[in-house]
Amino acid sequence: MQDDAIQADHLQRFIFDNAAIRGEWVQLKKTWQTVKVQREYPPAVAGLLGEMLAAAALLAETVKMSGRLVLQCRSDGPVSLLMVECTSEHTLRGLANWDGDIAEDATMQELLGEGNLAITIENIDAKQPYQGIVNVQGETIAEMLEMYFAQSEQLQTHIWLATDEQTAGGLMLQQLPDQDPEQHDENWTRINVLAETVTHEELLKLDAVSLLYRLFHEEMVRLLSTTVLEFSCTCSRQRVADTIKLLGRQEAEDIIAERGFVELACEFCNTHYQFDPVDVAGLFSDPLNIQNDSDTLH
Ligand SMILES: [Zn+2]
Repeated sequence: MQDDAIQADHLQRFIFDNAAIRGEWVQLKKTWQTVKVQREYPPAVAGLLGEMLAAAALLAETVKMSGRLVLQCRSDGPVSLLMVECTSEHTLRGLANWDGDIAEDATMQELLGEGNLAITIENIDAKQPYQGIVNVQGETIAEMLEMYFAQSEQLQTHIWLATDEQTAGGLMLQQLPDQDPEQHDENWTRINVLAETVTHEELLKLDAVSLLYRLFHEEMVRLLSTTVLEFSCTCSRQRVADTIKLLGRQEAEDIIAERGFVELACEFCNTHYQFDPVDVAGLFSDPLNIQNDSDTLH
């Protein structure tokens, strides 16, 4: 049990007792491995996806919601879609679509070209989802997100992200409102100078306590709550049934005639859902007919 708890992916929240700044640290291993294994991602694409996954975990924790936060990047570049989501149940999933051969050292600009990143917060209590959009810009996912925060005039935010084969990790610092603006800026600058020394290696290999001590041992850091995160997919047989209904009766029957069944796979988790001719007939049956049929049984 103890081992599982230590190895579980988690996010650590912290604040500075000597500055109006809060922070989050996240490291995803099992979750990242599960997302990555669904497709044979070229390394450069996997790099972007892993960073987006860590970013979604960091951002979701800053939002009070009952629902999900989705980061979706659409572009005219070789990576046409990058999408990750983190739910209020602390589950994550994600995928990327790409075309052609991708150079191992391809940059984010080369991969994404012209495009935009949408940040959507779907709250089950809200009628309309919140959505913020930023153009693809900067050299990294972290820079692009920082530009989003700057442009949406939210609290000043600084993000560091890193990915390798095993781990997706991230660190975030965010300003909190403070009554003393001058002191506030000084604190923000000083603590960010310390944080800027963080390396990818440290983000991926050190645990939260070691990293925070390594960066901020001269400051007064207080650890707050820890959140356990895991991969989970929200797909279901019912959702696939709805998709088949959207295809329409004729198309579904054509597929049955050709293959004997309709099968769809979830793009996030690779679960295959198969519908045989009886299932498909059931999807398109008129409820009134069922009623009539059961009447005749009596
Ligand atoms: Zn799924």
